[in-house]
Amino acid sequence: MLAETHQRLGAVKDGAVATYIPALAAVPPDLFGLATVSVDGRVAEAGDSRHPFTIQSVSKPFTYALALDLLGRRPVRAAVGVQPMAEAFNALVLDPVRSRPFNPMVNAGAIAVAGLLGDALGAQAFPMLQQRLSSAAGRDLALDHAVYRSEAATGHRNRALAHLLHGAGVFGVAAEEAVDIYFRQCSLIVTACDLAVMGATLANVGTNPVTGAEVYGVEAVRDTLSVMFTCGLYDGAGDWACRVGVPAKSGVGGGLVAVVNRQLGIGVFSPRVDSAGNPVRGLMACEALAEELGLHLFEPSNPGSTLLPALAG
Ligand code: GLU
Repeated sequence: MLAETHQRLGAVKDGAVATYIPALAAVPPDLFGLATVSVDGRVAEAGDSRHPFTIQSVSKPFTYALALDLLGRRPVRAAVGVQPMAEAFNALVLDPVRSRPFNPMVNAGAIAVAGLLGDALGAQAFPMLQQRLSSAAGRDLALDHAVYRSEAATGHRNRALAHLLHGAGVFGVAAEEAVDIYFRQCSLIVTACDLAVMGATLANVGTNPVTGAEVYGVEAVRDTLSVMFTCGLYDGAGDWACRVGVPAKSGVGGGLVAVVNRQLGIGVFSPRVDSAGNPVRGLMACEALAEELGLHLFEPSNPGSTLLPALAG
């Protein structure tokens, strides 16, 4: 079924590769990989599912879960809200009432989370983050130095957000340090298969179903999936909740992770993104799988895991 979906959507050319840095603009636009990993560790793949790319914003739920685990819900919630935001993902906007980011799935919120990790861990913040995301993926995730350097050289808007947040007292570490952690997290290299394992780790209540590693605590997973569901697809989140109905997160590098709670992680790589920054074929693939397998959270007759073996066939 995965192979069929991959083949059918392969012809879709809508959207455009992100061009804000040369390293992303150079990615061949036709690449397309799909992978699913079930909570009992079964892997199904199609197309360019092992092609490396930078994780970009798909990192956000995983660093949020790390912050929740390390610091606890109260300080994290005090610094970053859980409300959807109507503006673009990189908007220079804070919640006007509380002077904090609306949610951790947009840049302001993710930079705030990076700052909180910087406050708590100092120079160990990025190594710890890299280690935790690697544990969720079940292999060591390396840094793409070229992408990191470009992000750092051109990320003026993100830098502005970091200063805004530091000025509002959201974190204490220097704005430059917080945004540097964020640039590095965006530059970690993954594949669609890695994203499927990472998604399956969340679906499996924090335990990586392939390696057995306990990566995240139960509370962190629950909060993370909740904000992924309501805020994960940027300003397209409400539409996604109706059409697909599972928590998900996209990135401008073409990555997408979707989580079918207690069942499945879905990972997609498709570099052409829409105007909101979401990979076009990624959305379509998840919609097709959700439709065919009845994955929507509120599907009245959700057939559940009994249909999952069909993915490999
Ligand atoms: N590095 C990108 C930025 O911060 C990530 C955005 C995204 O993937 O949506 O602008």
